[in-house]
Amino acid sequence: MHAYDLPDARGHFGPYGGSFVSETLTHAIDELRAAYERCRRDPAFQREFEHELKHFVGRPSPIYHAQRLSRELGGAQILLKREDLNHTGAHKINNVIGQALLARRMGKPRVIAETGAGQHGVATATICARYGLECVVYMGSEDVKRQSPNVYRMKLLGATVVPVESGSRTLKDALNEALRDWVTNVEHTFYIIGTVAGPHPYPMMVRDFQSVIGRECLQQMPEMLAELGLPGCGGPHPDVVVACVGGGSNAMGIFHPYIPHPQVRLVGVEAAGAGLDSGRHAASLQRGAPGVLHGNRTYVLQNADGQITETHSISAGLDYPGVGPEHAWLKDSGRAEYVGVTDEEALAAFHRLARTEGIIPALESSHAVAWAIKTAPTMRPDQTILVNLSGRGDKDIGTVADLSGADFYCRPSCRGQSVKVAGGGAA
Ligand SMILES: *Cc1c(COP(=O)(O)O)cnc(C)c1O
Repeated sequence: MHAYDLPDARGHFGPYGGSFVSETLTHAIDELRAAYERCRRDPAFQREFEHELKHFVGRPSPIYHAQRLSRELGGAQILLKREDLNHTGAHKINNVIGQALLARRMGKPRVIAETGAGQHGVATATICARYGLECVVYMGSEDVKRQSPNVYRMKLLGATVVPVESGSRTLKDALNEALRDWVTNVEHTFYIIGTVAGPHPYPMMVRDFQSVIGRECLQQMPEMLAELGLPGCGGPHPDVVVACVGGGSNAMGIFHPYIPHPQVRLVGVEAAGAGLDSGRHAASLQRGAPGVLHGNRTYVLQNADGQITETHSISAGLDYPGVGPEHAWLKDSGRAEYVGVTDEEALAAFHRLARTEGIIPALESSHAVAWAIKTAPTMRPDQTILVNLSGRGDKDIGTVADLSGADFYCRPSCRGQSVKVAGGGAA
């Protein structure tokens, strides 16, 4: 695997990826590809990106040894890459900074974005405030209702949030609407996509920006292993790297620098929802089939007629019927494996990490934590599982409180009284 150098010049990862866009967007995509190629090789651009990551995001994010959890499980040591500590609370900001810098270099004063749970919208609104760019965020009207705190956050930051009423009024509909806006306003508008999806060069570009996660791990692991007195896996590496997969950007970010180290197992966790065979999940790689979605060829959840099927996950950030094309390739080539974790397992992991380590993870990240909890006891205590903790769970406490019963919020002294938490239903 030493020669891993994908995608090719036209954005192909084996049979996946590429660029399937209407003629009206061909020029915009060509322009973007040329601009990114220049910036990618421009040390001044890379320096500015690194400066922003350090001073605005707070990088590098630490690797943390979940000692109490590991001891309870009695197997492999669980290590957490703390993307939850980033400004705005997740990995999404890394990519958004890269694309916003590119928008500035290209002289585009207006930025558009799509968002589902609202995390990408919040990150985009944040960086537009930081750089003085106009910001319009498309969001399914169903999601606007479910994620009202994030909608308000975007408005506080000066963004315009446009509710989308078409289709199932969720993420894929917001993405379609953002593409439509881009076609109309392409001269002065930059489209910031939130994951490793979309037409080439987006999957490659978002991966490159997110790869800072894995590059930091390569640098931090020797010290962590030395501290724990552990041998590492064929060098100063973890035995397993695991991440949740919605569109796949936090997973690609931590996987990519490890691809040339074949002894390191790469595991992507998809949302199995009510179960992989329940018809209510978002496991595109495990239950989908190759097709074209949002500008690239990848695994898509679709019926026999090629129509996109409804997805479900407890976690809005994983609730997407497609997946980045590079994951499709990593799956087919066998370099990475993809598994499912159910809503119930993710929720249990959410509570367990909070209670044993004092870290409330995002429900998305809880899927990766759940897999580590299941797998650690099957491994030796001198082995390590590195979990990408993609985000923090603040945004999810309303969802969790609803599922756990409202008195979950109460101190013992208020039990029995009906205490309703403000915004509990929609947070
Ligand atoms: C958006 C989000 C995800 C899913 O997106 P990927 O592109 O698959 O990383 C995962 N975790 C968190 C915290 C998110 O906000």
